[in-house]
This record gives sequence, C-alpha cells and structure tokens, in this order.
Amino acid sequence: MENKRDKAVFPKKLLNNFMEENNEKWINEYRKDSNFTKGYYQTLENFFKFKDYAKKPFNLFNTSDVSKYIEIMIENGFSINRIDYIISNINTFKKFLIEKHPDVFNENLLKDLLELKMGKPEKKYIDTQPLNLVQLNYAKEYIKSNIRTEYIFEILYQLNIRKQDFEICLPQYADRENMIFKKKDKIIKYNSKIQELLSKINTVSNFKATFSMIPDHLTKIEQYLKIKGVYNENRTLTYFDISKTHEAYFIKCPNCGIEYENISSNWALAKVDFSNNYYLVCSKCKGEPLK
Ligand SMILES: [Zn+2]
Repeated sequence: MENKRDKAVFPKKLLNNFMEENNEKWINEYRKDSNFTKGYYQTLENFFKFKDYAKKPFNLFNTSDVSKYIEIMIENGFSINRIDYIISNINTFKKFLIEKHPDVFNENLLKDLLELKMGKPEKKYIDTQPLNLVQLNYAKEYIKSNIRTEYIFEILYQLNIRKQDFEICLPQYADRENMIFKKKDKIIKYNSKIQELLSKINTVSNFKATFSMIPDHLTKIEQYLKIKGVYNENRTLTYFDISKTHEAYFIKCPNCGIEYENISSNWALAKVDFSNNYYLVCSKCKGEPLK
C-alpha cells in the first residue's frame, strides 16, 4: 500500500477535456500573476475539468459543489494529504480571485471550504470551543428536526472520531450485534445511543450521510443557536468544536473504562463495605467487579 496516493486516479469518464471559459481565463491569469510549480496549476485545471463544472463559473461555486469532487476522490482511494492539498489549492486560488476581482467574487465565497479538510486542522481551528450547556441542549433539540443532522451530530459528539473515519461510521457498515462499525479492516465501537439512532434510521427510506455533508449540517445547528441568541455571531461551528464538546462532556468510568456522557442517568454511586467514600461509576457496570 506504499505510495497509494500516487496510484489513485480520478475516473477519466468524469472529466471533460475542457474547462468552462471563465474558469480557464481565471486560471491563466493566476498562472501569469503567481509563481507556483507546474503541478500546482495542473491540479486546479484537473479540478475544473470535472464534468459537473462544465457550465459553472467559479464565482458561483458553493461548498457542496466542491464536496462532490472530494467525495469521488475519497471513493477512489486518494490519500488524505492529497485531498487536503487540493482543498488548499482551491482556497488559495479563491483568495487570489477575491482580491483581484472583488466585483465578481464575493468575499464570502466558499467560506467553509477549509472545513472539508480531513487531516490536520488549519491554524484557525486550533481556536476551538466546546458547546456550553445551553448551546448543547439547543443543539440536541434542533437535531430532532432532521435525521441526517441528528446522525452527523451524534456520530461526532458520541464517538469523537477522527473526521476521516466518518466514512466508516455509516449505517451500511454497522454490525449491530457487536455494536461496531466495520469497513474492511477498520473497526469503530459505538454506544447504545448510536444503536438507538441506527434503529430509527432503519425505518427511514433512502437515508444517506457522507463526510462532505458535515459542514452543511453543522452550519444548520450554528444558525439555530444564533437564532436562539446563544452563539457568538462571529463564530463558525466546526467539527473540532464538536470534538472538544465530547471531551468536555464525556467521562470514562473508572471501573469498566467505557465513556459515558455526564448525564445523571448514566451514572451511579458506589462504595466498598469498609469505607464511607462514594465513587462515581457508570450505571451499566455499577462498579461491580468485571468478569
Ligand atoms: Zn462502568
């Protein structure tokens, strides 16, 4: 599997041999005005040759346009580095055009683009914040209105997976008897909350969730929190914030070692005969000696 990324290719049948004329014009302009390697511009050209973009000038792109391309890369085994490299390139190109043609390119164009990255967080995302109690409970209320939002939020919040592992945590890979997601040789354990959610999804026809839907659905939650007046107007809710929220609200049971959310029904108090100290243990194992 060494050098896997060098072998991954974008399916030829999904590529045109031309670009939309504005896109071609802008890339040529970019090439003249900047000084990157040949491969850098080539990457951009390949991106814009994607069949879906044949009639779409870049100034009209939204994040889901880009995620279509990224999803095909994921399906075809491109490495995380390669995917993140392309997202960075598109982002740099976008910045160039916003500066150069402010009349054509809105400054908010592809605002969430960097959230599609799968690997290392960008610097600005190191500045993450867990949801506070009020925000978390509004978020939980909101997600009940959309099963996809609920699934995406709960997978991230309950399991605190790496972003790229979202592709494993999908209903079609669930082994419900063993409460694990299993895709090829990768296994991720899940908890009873996810088990419940999977039962619910079983009754929904055409349920679909993908990695690239994450930013969209988090934005919906963010907007709801803003409407409720409990979220800073200038913040964007990201995957990293949900990860921090998990870390803030989940506690590992000292007896069985399983993590549970710090809701009182998940916890019990246990003591040993000869001491008056009560310890917090999960309500599943109740502090009993493990078999
Ligand atoms: Zn326990």
